[in-house]
Amino acid sequence: MGKNLVVVESPAKGKTLKKYLGKDFEILASYGHLRDLIPKEGAVDTENDFKMKYEVIERNAKHLDAIVKLLRKSDALYLATDPDREGEAISWHLYELLKDKKVLKDKPVYRVMFNEITKKAVLDAVANPRELSMPMVDAQQARRALDYLVGFNLSPLLWKKIRRGLSAGRVQSPALRMIVERELEIEAFESQEYWSITSDLNSDGQSFPARLTHLNGEKLSQFSITNEEQASTAKTTLIDAANGQLTVTKIDKKQRRRNPSAPFTTSTLQQEASRKLGFTTKRTMRVAQQLYEGIDTGNGAVGLITYMRTDSVHLANEALEEIRNVIQERYGADQVPKEPRGFKTKAKNAQEAHEAIRPSSAAIDPESIKANLTVEQFKLYSLIWKRTIACQMIQATFNTVAVDLAAGSEKQLFRANGSIIVKPGFMAVYREDVDDAKKGDDDSNKILPPLEVKQVIQLQEIITTQHFTEPPPRYTEASLVRDLEEHGIGRPSTYASIIATLQDRDYVELEKKRFTPTDVGRIVNKFLTTYFHRYVDYNFTAKLEDDLDAIARGEKKWVPLLTSFWAPFKKLIDHTEENVQRKDVTQEMMDENCPKCDKQLSIRLGRRGRFIGCSGFPDCDYTRNMDGDESSNEPEVVEGRSCPDCDAQLIIRAGRYGKFIGWL
Ligand SMILES: [Zn+2]
Repeated sequence: MGKNLVVVESPAKGKTLKKYLGKDFEILASYGHLRDLIPKEGAVDTENDFKMKYEVIERNAKHLDAIVKLLRKSDALYLATDPDREGEAISWHLYELLKDKKVLKDKPVYRVMFNEITKKAVLDAVANPRELSMPMVDAQQARRALDYLVGFNLSPLLWKKIRRGLSAGRVQSPALRMIVERELEIEAFESQEYWSITSDLNSDGQSFPARLTHLNGEKLSQFSITNEEQASTAKTTLIDAANGQLTVTKIDKKQRRRNPSAPFTTSTLQQEASRKLGFTTKRTMRVAQQLYEGIDTGNGAVGLITYMRTDSVHLANEALEEIRNVIQERYGADQVPKEPRGFKTKAKNAQEAHEAIRPSSAAIDPESIKANLTVEQFKLYSLIWKRTIACQMIQATFNTVAVDLAAGSEKQLFRANGSIIVKPGFMAVYREDVDDAKKGDDDSNKILPPLEVKQVIQLQEIITTQHFTEPPPRYTEASLVRDLEEHGIGRPSTYASIIATLQDRDYVELEKKRFTPTDVGRIVNKFLTTYFHRYVDYNFTAKLEDDLDAIARGEKKWVPLLTSFWAPFKKLIDHTEENVQRKDVTQEMMDENCPKCDKQLSIRLGRRGRFIGCSGFPDCDYTRNMDGDESSNEPEVVEGRSCPDCDAQLIIRAGRYGKFIGWL
């Protein structure tokens, strides 16, 4: 065998591969994509079947040169980029560049894919290479073209109609809409008062609570008691009826079982790492990539986890076998279910996402390699290891008990709940964190004293508690990824970048780990939902993602998809450009008149965010900020003239040498 050249996208991955492939293989890294669309108008030729114009990415030109140089001396080329669309596209671009440079000659070109960087997986892949998958490349190109067309046509419109320098993306815009709509819901939310009543009971020296479920023969709902007066009347009724004691009327015992969660996909890993470790989605992906590409644990680099961009929950048979052995050794044979547990994958692109994110070897337990990992690598690897082990362990079993207690007659009933974990099963290793949607679903032990029907229990106190309903919570990174996935928006490779892009553009801010939209974010969203409704529609965006998946599977062609997208989109861009005025977008009339001149007031977007100003401007200069403070210092707008370059509104600014005209 002669010399072979293997190309991967990162040097860390190359180092791990080197160890397995031996001296007949030279390995070089492309450092990501080698070429991209030219960053100019016309990069996607909408007149000619969306032909794309590419150029070599400047910072990677030297890596391309190195590949060309070494390929001249090699007999075969192995394209070993990551096992997904992005990886396929990197390989294809390289292949095209090498063809143009005429260095391939008759040398064989092989595409090799491995889902984990272990000796066996790598040698298997090299022994069974395939050709480049053009459907996968097409799907990636179509995505790139769609994103380009939206960005390059929508952004200039935002410059003209809102503010210079803004941009809008195809997939980020629906995500922005979710965050803004949640904020509007919170602002419109009216808190409602309600009261709960509990009794503090004591049996054999053990105190326990029971909450009121029936009053005067009627079953209570959340809003049965809505003020202090009702609560105190109820308390008096209950004290009179109970006369210092409650009687047990019914005991209901049940056994409840809980199954472990599926092994990690990209989205569930991002969610749990956010909740449990406080990692941003970006950080999770960066650390996961390090674990995938290989870490030296004493005997050279080893890939510790399978590929981190996946929406599959499938586990390979060999992996299952190893996981079951580890459980048996560490936790006992009785902790292993008879059959391996299977999980169903929602996504149907089986050819891309092979497996869930799992340790490449379950036998490598986190503690044993702790010394070789950074703190964040150790935390993330532990999370993945535990989740994977837990998903193949037996169910958790709880005994639950619900006890009804009457005050006097059964017209006034209280209920006490208890729950005991009898067999922790998988929960001994891993518990999923409770998120916003499941609050109150508490797994911990709540133990009641032994009780019997007709037993009389001493009543210590009746407690009334005031509550107020709360608005829906703002999105966290975790809940945003969850909802994006639920809506079918974004894919494993894009969740982290959607979130990062919204922050980079200053459309949203992360405060106490929760997203709030900025004023500019709100206005951009209002513009898009008003004039480009279809393109921020969740179903439309999800359908487009499905179409891209169908292209990757070879079931659809990409040019017709782009044609059907482009024609109506372009029409809408032109229509909006002509018919929508800047003030339609950035000015919102209020139901309030100016205290100075009595003309209508409006909310406008200034440099520092939204402010309230008189619609009589420039005749009247009344302004105040959104909090009602009149000291706001908004710039004067030059009416009737706009910037000759970008059409943005001009303002008069105070500079060091006097007033000058600038952009808003
Ligand atoms: Zn006025």
